[in-house]
Amino acid sequence: MPPDLDVVIVGGGAIGAACARELARTGRKVLVIETGSEMGQAWRAAGGMLAPHIEGERNDPLFDLGTAARDHYEPLAAALREATGIDLGLWQEGIARVATDESEVASLQNTVGWQQRQGYPTQWLDEHELRHRWPWLGPAAGALWAPRDGALDPDRLVHALLADAKRRGATVLQDRATAVLTAGSAAAGVTGERDSYAAPEVVVAAGAWTGLLEGLPRRIPVQPVRGQMAALPWPEGIGRAIVYNKDCYLLARGNEAVLGSTMEYVGFNAEVTPAGLAKIFSNTMALCPALVRAKMRRSWAGLRPVTPDGLPIIGEEPKLRGLWYATGHGRNGILLAGLTGVLIAQLMNGEPPSHDLQRFAPDRFV
Ligand SMILES: Cc1cc2nc3c(=O)[nH]c(=O)nc-3n(C[C@H](O)[C@H](O)[C@H](O)COP(=O)(O)OP(=O)(O)OC[C@H]3O[C@@H](n4cnc5c(N)ncnc54)[C@H](O)[C@@H]3O)c2cc1C
Repeated sequence: MPPDLDVVIVGGGAIGAACARELARTGRKVLVIETGSEMGQAWRAAGGMLAPHIEGERNDPLFDLGTAARDHYEPLAAALREATGIDLGLWQEGIARVATDESEVASLQNTVGWQQRQGYPTQWLDEHELRHRWPWLGPAAGALWAPRDGALDPDRLVHALLADAKRRGATVLQDRATAVLTAGSAAAGVTGERDSYAAPEVVVAAGAWTGLLEGLPRRIPVQPVRGQMAALPWPEGIGRAIVYNKDCYLLARGNEAVLGSTMEYVGFNAEVTPAGLAKIFSNTMALCPALVRAKMRRSWAGLRPVTPDGLPIIGEEPKLRGLWYATGHGRNGILLAGLTGVLIAQLMNGEPPSHDLQRFAPDRFV
């Protein structure tokens, strides 16, 4: 174990890796503890959409944070490519959210109007425009077009963040953390199955497994929510795109069509099921009928870390000095990862955070 650690981070997924990189960048001696074994980690399963605007409605507490987080990837992707040679596959060519009936048309048009009044370039595309851009779409009555939303490859993101963190002196060890250690009213490190790791500060970034850690002074109500996914070859003759509707999405990644997803409360079970796949295939084939001719390539599932109010938990534990939470990012953890790392580093370095984090404070749960 490296001596004189400043920070131990539990979890080297999307959020832990981003925190490690930002803390190492500000000169902290960082250790990341990561189980490494395949257990349905969300980052391995994610679609990687950076899509704050296709769902962003009035009063959504994640709208501003999500927009800033999406825009943060432009400089971050360039910096990571320069530092590590890893290309995040950043796609910035927009996402269409398709309406299939009149009530959805009204609701999405409302959202478009609200976002336009906030100064964003979101547009409403009528059926004619939609057919012109994407003639291969199934039944559709119009779409919200978010031209700055996009996607990246989550696997490459995590590898690039960890590689850059290591380049800046961080260590990544394979172990499963079991408990946070305390000394009086302060955090003192972490115990794992293989060893104990002493440090005055601890960041809990264990995704859906956060609530299983012992020694936390409060119950952290992060629940696993399973999402199943499938991939097919991208259909020939169709331009690369990301399209989304209320039931499913279809996104181009490399030469594949990634299809998602389900939201299932089935505990720590990351299995793929025939029922889950049937739902994904029937929904995405309605969205893009050409998929019916494609050959099946792969399927997988992962566990999203979801809180009761759907918002992440970002901040210090008021009852234990030096214990920080960066967890519960639910369906948006890839979008929010890069910026969460920055915010955690700002907070831990005693700087004012660049965004108001009140709604994400840990003490909203008792
Ligand atoms: C099917 C699916 C599709 C998704 N699509 C999108 C999307 O399009 N856009 C988007 O923004 N988000 C998406 N998400 C959500 C996103 O993947 C998560 O919000 C994000 O990965 C959460 O990051 P995390 O680091 O908190 O958790 P994870 O990514 O799960 O990482 C947690 C890490 O902690 C490790 N760990 C856990 N417990 C311990 C322990 N005790 N000791 C050591 N290590 C431990 C795990 O091994 C894991 O590597 C999707 C998720 C799923 C499942």
